[in-house]
Amino acid sequence: MINPAVSERGISARVERFTESVIREMTRLAMEHEAINLAQGFPDFPAPEFIKEAAIAAIRADVNQYSVTWGDPLLRQAIAAKYRRWYGLEIEADAHVTVCCGSTEAMISTLIAVLNPGDETVIFEPFYENYGPDSILSGAAPRFVPLRAGAGGWSFDREELRAAFNAKTRAIVLNTPNNPTGKVFTRAELEFIRDLCVEWDCLAITDEIYEHIIYDGRPHIPMATLPGMAERTITISGISKTFSVTGWRVGWAVAPAHLAGGIRKVHDFLTVGAPAPLQIGAAHAIADGDDYCRGLAAAYTARRQRIVPRLQAAGFACAWPEGAYYVITDIGGFQPRHGADDVAFARWLTAEIGVACVPGSSFYHRPGDGARQVRFCFSKQDPTLEEAARRLELVRQR
Ligand code: GLN
Repeated sequence: MINPAVSERGISARVERFTESVIREMTRLAMEHEAINLAQGFPDFPAPEFIKEAAIAAIRADVNQYSVTWGDPLLRQAIAAKYRRWYGLEIEADAHVTVCCGSTEAMISTLIAVLNPGDETVIFEPFYENYGPDSILSGAAPRFVPLRAGAGGWSFDREELRAAFNAKTRAIVLNTPNNPTGKVFTRAELEFIRDLCVEWDCLAITDEIYEHIIYDGRPHIPMATLPGMAERTITISGISKTFSVTGWRVGWAVAPAHLAGGIRKVHDFLTVGAPAPLQIGAAHAIADGDDYCRGLAAAYTARRQRIVPRLQAAGFACAWPEGAYYVITDIGGFQPRHGADDVAFARWLTAEIGVACVPGSSFYHRPGDGARQVRFCFSKQDPTLEEAARRLELVRQR
């Protein structure tokens, strides 16, 4: 999160400007209190057998050394073929794809590669925590545009978005399906954003890590598929959420050829490469996993159904997410009894109720804007969700 109050001696001015990750901190707190961890976004169920078997086979075959820094050719080819198969995008493994240590590294490598100090980025808010520190580390100044919850879901004001673009704007960072709101950007919204990118000659850097976790038959529309955008979009995704392997750290950036070289340089000097045998596992999973990917929407629809009505009944006001596996809720009804703000509430909930969540302030550049919100992750087994829901129903009585 962006640091509201600075000063740690010996730390660079750049790094002083943000705090440790609140999301990861909540996982530590959950472990300390043996709470059910609905904070950090990762599943508590096993990864599918076929991806595990492919990685085990790669280790047995002695895939132990560095792969090509920008990714094993087998994986880059599997990624390129998948974008062609699913979205009709013409991607070349050699020219466009850089495999990174998760989409997290793909995002920061991309931002460092394309931004200069003095450049501006446009970011919808609430935003996934990392984009704040990522912007600071890349030297650019973020401009935040609010997403607001309404009867029709989360939306933005077109004039507010238009006003955020100017001659200094180098990129918009877009996350769809969105963490933490669950918003899936519609084609009309993407077209409006596309037109601004073209008008101001800037890039779209899209985090599409939840591309297969999407509800009610909505399509996932990669920004790069919109006419005029292939040349100005960097598409970031990975295997973490799709294949329930967040700890493997395999993600990628697909970029126009003239930008891929810069991303590869940053990636190489940051991490050299993602884990080699796991890249082979990922390659097989992507090549053979289409049916599995199509089944994800149904599996997550059932989990969403299991938790959202229970949250609402327990007093956590929230909209139904359209995609991804989070639900952001309004906790105003519990304040100030269980804590003056979101952080106090999240700590109380973890320690006293035994359910960890993420405080809303970690998704805003001004912490006060998230003081009435917390986010729950529902990428969990049925018994975990059941027990969490049972405990959350006790909040009102406390
Ligand atoms: N995206 C996940 C979340 O929002 C966490 C990712 C991470 O911790 N690297 O919780």
